[in-house]
Amino acid sequence: MVELDQRQAPGQGQPLFAAVHVTRQRRGIVDLLCHVCGKPTPRRDRHLFPVASGGFVTLHDGTQGYGCNVPPVHLACAKRALRECPHLSHLVERPLRCGSDEGRVIHRTDVTPGMEALAKTLPSGVEVVFSCYRLYGAEFTEEVRAARAAWDKATLASRAAGRPIA
Ligand SMILES: [Zn+2]
Repeated sequence: MVELDQRQAPGQGQPLFAAVHVTRQRRGIVDLLCHVCGKPTPRRDRHLFPVASGGFVTLHDGTQGYGCNVPPVHLACAKRALRECPHLSHLVERPLRCGSDEGRVIHRTDVTPGMEALAKTLPSGVEVVFSCYRLYGAEFTEEVRAARAAWDKATLASRAAGRPIA
């Protein structure tokens, strides 16, 4: 199995909010590094955006687990992202604190969206890790489901009232 390694130049250039750095994404997921500042997230200060990030993965037994391919963030960094990230600032969602379930790392060797052109340049027959995510257990999956339901309810109510949600 081969892992992609993208050149890094922290602090240089401007952030590309719509693109994810391959190496930083993997290091962030594996080592639980903050998606904003790159520093380790201690368990008491580890959050994610349950509406903007990840999705539900159907497991072999038919149950679903929450899978998230976006590294966690510190609360202070989450607040900064809410102010500065164009995608998050439109969603108006609150970060959800991760519980004791750290999930388990799943490597994706299928070509993930946006990696098609790169995949064509790679030799055939080589198993390549294009991305990875953390798959969470039933308890945290339900917390995410509840947070999404609350966000849906608040968003629908605010739209019905013709005002932005706060
Ligand atoms: Zn941070």
